[in-house]
Amino acid sequence: MKEFTVKIKSLTSLWTGDADRKNTTLRETGIIGSLRWWYEALIRGLGGTACDPTDTKCEGKNHCDACELFGCTGWARKFRLEVKKINNETILQLIKLREVEDVEWGLLSKTLKIIASWGAIGGKIAEFKYGLIKIVQNDLERFSLGKAQLKKYLKKQGTSVENPNITRFVFINKDLNYETTKKTKDELHFLKGQLGKAKRYFYKTFNGKPYRFFAYAENDNEYNRMIGFLSKSGVQFVKGKEIIGELK
Ligand SMILES: [Zn+2]
Repeated sequence: MKEFTVKIKSLTSLWTGDADRKNTTLRETGIIGSLRWWYEALIRGLGGTACDPTDTKCEGKNHCDACELFGCTGWARKFRLEVKKINNETILQLIKLREVEDVEWGLLSKTLKIIASWGAIGGKIAEFKYGLIKIVQNDLERFSLGKAQLKKYLKKQGTSVENPNITRFVFINKDLNYETTKKTKDELHFLKGQLGKAKRYFYKTFNGKPYRFFAYAENDNEYNRMIGFLSKSGVQFVKGKEIIGELK
């Protein structure tokens, strides 16, 4: 098959514009950038390499496991993404440009599921009002993600940075209220952005109510503090490791 469709419904706006344009047309770049960001986090969590395409990126044949599918200078992306909006559904069309391995479709499918169940997509995902989606149809569902298959696939070459890594994420979808969110980001001050560094917590509302929170630590020490704090606060949260743990 040459082409796969993923239909999504956006629960909140998808930011796909840039500074000079209003959010009227859906743009592939915003979606693909965000999709890649989650894909990299997943790849790192699975033990593969993933560079930072905005900074320390790969070039040419010796590239990381994320560039293998998404491309870099001298190595073309294996698929093209077309984004169409029909009524209130957004259609993502993934069109094969070169040979794509089943495991790569499987990884993309997993990435989309993580985004829909736990995360957010598009530009400005750090802002509360953007990026919540629901998957309506996923043609990539048929591609499973097996451990053995994955082990063979990950080459662990190229440039790699350590973060974000899905195994150092926490996700909250239940019992979320404004106080918990505030306490969490006050107590875990490292999640707040600093000069030249983006914040690492993401808070989402839906219909004006707290809906979802996710954050990531950059090292084990931070991660343990995060888990310790959330455990004490009694909030139900899910660890990134548990999400990967679903792999067979
Ligand atoms: Zn790379």
